Amino acid sequence: MWLRIAIQKKGRIGERSLDLFKKIWWKIHIDDRTLSCKIPELQIELLLMRDDDIPWFVEKGVCDLWIVGSDLIQETHTNVTIVRKLWFGKCRFSIAIPGDSTIHTLSDLQGKTFATSFPNILQSFLDTQHLQGTIITMSGSVEIAPSMKMADAIADIVSSGNTLIQNGLKEFHTISDFEAVLIQHTTVFDDEKKNLLGKLLMRIDAIIEAKKYKYIVMNIPKTSLSTFTELLWGIDGPTISPLTNEQMLSFATVISEEKFWENIEKLKALGASGILILPIEKMIF
Ligand code: AMP
Repeated sequence: MWLRIAIQKKGRIGERSLDLFKKIWWKIHIDDRTLSCKIPELQIELLLMRDDDIPWFVEKGVCDLWIVGSDLIQETHTNVTIVRKLWFGKCRFSIAIPGDSTIHTLSDLQGKTFATSFPNILQSFLDTQHLQGTIITMSGSVEIAPSMKMADAIADIVSSGNTLIQNGLKEFHTISDFEAVLIQHTTVFDDEKKNLLGKLLMRIDAIIEAKKYKYIVMNIPKTSLSTFTELLWGIDGPTISPLTNEQMLSFATVISEEKFWENIEKLKALGASGILILPIEKMIF
C-alpha cells in the first residue's frame, strides 16, 4: 500500500513542497519531466501536478493527501480536512487600488469594478460587507487591469508587495491570510494508511518544530554560569564544556530564536562572547 500525495509541479508552493520531501528523504531526485516519484522507505508516492487540477483529484479521492495553498481551498470550496499548516507559502489576499484612487474607505468600494483570479473569495467578502460590485475574473496579470481602465480595484495575492508597486497600485485592505497546507480528503483512512500518515507527520512535525528553535553556542565567564543557565535553560539544560581559558566556559543550548533576541543585550552585558546561532534542521522530542 502507498500513501499518495499530490504536490504542485511548478510555482512557489510546488518548489517548497519538494524541499520539504527532500528534507524527509534526501535521496529524492526530480527533474522537469518527473511526474511521480516514490519514497519506498515511507511507502509514499508523490504526484506532481498542475495546481488547477488538484481540487478535482481531491474530490475524486485519487490521492490521499495534497499540499496546496489555502487560497485554492477557500476559492473552490473543496471539502477537505487540514492535517497540518505548513510554514511556507505565506501570503495575503488583498484589495489594491491605483495610487491616485478616490477610494478611501470600505464603503467607497460600493458599485466598483474589481479584477481578480479569486472571484468566490472576493464575492464572499463583498457580501459580508454588504457591498455590491462587478467582478471581472482573470486567470493572471490581474495587476494590469486598473491601468487598462478595466477595473477600479483588484483583489490579488500579495507577498512582498513589489508587484503592486511596480504597477502603480497600493494595498488597501487585507481580506484573508493564506499559507501552504497539507490536506486530506474527508474519507477516513484504514489502519495501514493511518500508520503511514503517522510516520509522515512525525517527520513533518520534526521540521516544523526545528524552525522555531536555534542552537546557540557561546563563551561565558565561569562566574556567571548559574545566571546563564537560568536565562537559557533549553530542553534538558545547557551543555557546558571547559575552555583552555579557565575563567571561561563554552555554553550550548537550544532555545527559541525569539527568546534569544529578547535576551541578547543581557547576555552580552553578562560577558557572553563568540556567540554562534545555528539553524536546526529537525527536532524530535
Ligand atoms: P509580491 O510581488 O511578492 O507581492 O508577489 C505578488 C505576486 O506573486 C502575485 O502575482 C501573486 O499572485 C504571486 N504570489 C505571491 N505569493 C504567492 C503565494 N504564496 N502563492 C501563490 N502566488 C503568490
